Amino acid sequence: MILYRLRCSKGHEFESWFKDSKTYERQEKKTLIGCALCGDSKVVRAPMAPRLGKGAKKVEVEKPAAGAPAAPAAPPTPTPEQQQMAAMARHMPKELREALLKVRAEVEKNCEHVGDKFAEEARKIHYGESDKRGIYGETSEQEAEALAEEGIEFGRLPWIPRGN
Ligand SMILES: [Zn+2]
Repeated sequence: MILYRLRCSKGHEFESWFKDSKTYERQEKKTLIGCALCGDSKVVRAPMAPRLGKGAKKVEVEKPAAGAPAAPAAPPTPTPEQQQMAAMARHMPKELREALLKVRAEVEKNCEHVGDKFAEEARKIHYGESDKRGIYGETSEQEAEALAEEGIEFGRLPWIPRGN
């Protein structure tokens, strides 16, 4: 069912329900729709006027229609570690943060990022299964300890986020 606001040639406006828009169009063509007030069959669709008076306020706070585009998806939530690092970066002296950012930039420029495969790759390099090269990535506390026990050289640095 669809509600149309209609207006006759004399300016009377009224609302009428139709099964669907096609039904309305068919009835309009055959001048089957008569004005509710004067019976005039020259009826056209009037724009749906915003309701005035009592209802006006309610219209303003109405939620968008169901068909409205959904709000953009929220960015992925940072992990607790990332949040901790971001909080730390916010509270560290500016000089220190800049120094760490420089180190980060150097590492990114000169080393290969291996992501969370750091421990795996560091071991391969240590045991000669991979080319000797600089790598960087993330690893867990346990893995880091294991690497240290195996005598694998690696450094840790606070990987602070860029920007503010
Ligand atoms: Zn009329």
